[in-house]
Amino acid sequence: MTVPGPPRPPESRRAARVLREEAARRARAGADRRARVGTESHDRTLAGDPSRSGAHRTRPAQAHGARSSSASAGSAPARHVRPTRRGRAAVTVFVAAGLLFAGIPALTSLTAGSASGPEAGSAKLFAVPPHIDALPVPTFEQATTSTDICGESSVRAALEAGDDSAAIAAAGGGEAFRAAVATGAASCVDLADPSRIWVVVNKRRPYAPVDYRPAALMLPDGVRSVEGGSLRSDAAAALTSMVTAARDAGVGEIALESGFRSYETQQGSYGRQVAARGVEGADQVSARPGFSEHQSGLAGDVVACAGACGTLDDLAATAQGAWVAGHSWEYGWIVRYVDGGTDVTGYLGEPWHLRYIGPDLARAYHEGGWTSLEEFFGLPAAPDYG
Ligand SMILES: [Zn+2]
Repeated sequence: MTVPGPPRPPESRRAARVLREEAARRARAGADRRARVGTESHDRTLAGDPSRSGAHRTRPAQAHGARSSSASAGSAPARHVRPTRRGRAAVTVFVAAGLLFAGIPALTSLTAGSASGPEAGSAKLFAVPPHIDALPVPTFEQATTSTDICGESSVRAALEAGDDSAAIAAAGGGEAFRAAVATGAASCVDLADPSRIWVVVNKRRPYAPVDYRPAALMLPDGVRSVEGGSLRSDAAAALTSMVTAARDAGVGEIALESGFRSYETQQGSYGRQVAARGVEGADQVSARPGFSEHQSGLAGDVVACAGACGTLDDLAATAQGAWVAGHSWEYGWIVRYVDGGTDVTGYLGEPWHLRYIGPDLARAYHEGGWTSLEEFFGLPAAPDYG
């Protein structure tokens, strides 16, 4: 300072001295605190250093003790400069003023939010709680999804007895069963079990074991089987009912072109498709061995016949094809692969490929307007083999 200011009144000088003393005391206390912090962090470094040998492991505690005593000695002077009562009053004023001036920018930063936002310049000096439009209210849906259908002893008993229809009925019917599975409230229902009518097989869900073979296969009674194909007994009976109903309705004959295919059979058919179309082309029309619905005995390819039978591709344009699309669900069947569903099912539309899921689930599928089993049961899409 080169130019002395005007003489200050005694009150001002006293206040200035108090402030200087307080600043000096805080500086000493700060230096003491920094010394102690440095000691502790150094100890942590020693203790956490894995390169240290076992002989050195006891050193941090010894060093810490030694440094603690020196730190205590270092803090002793700070205790000797306790301020007087008048000094304490001045310190209180000093601290309060400091809090006020330090607090304003802190509050400003709290209320201003991001400084880069368009409202950064219109900061308020108080914090505003976030606006809440409405308090969250538990919904009925949340309450019901927490009830697992497997808590019902009748559901478990039906499953143990191998009676899929009874299990669905005990769960409250096809839609209730579907909803429970899709929302994770059916812990005892295994969509990978190929012996169940609700099994889902696709390009991401192969059989386990991969060469699974159903127990009871039979030719459907009263149905022409073009290639001698068989179906699981429950699916065979349901196909007989469907074909009989179509004939009784006057739409003509429906025949089974292809039913159960073993793992070995699928190896041959898929291999022929690969030879003709390449892997990419084959994967769009034929399942790899271990991934075909036909291996479950629950899938059948049907054709229309008028004396001779047409091809699979001919079906859609026939009266039988239209009837199958509209009525097969009444007998427990669904058209598994529809046009436009390739992103989910992994297959182009196949109006001839029917899958038996039983009348209860087929009704829920039809009435819900579902177009894939994956979506029906809340499973991920299976556009490819992953
Ligand atoms: Zn098929």
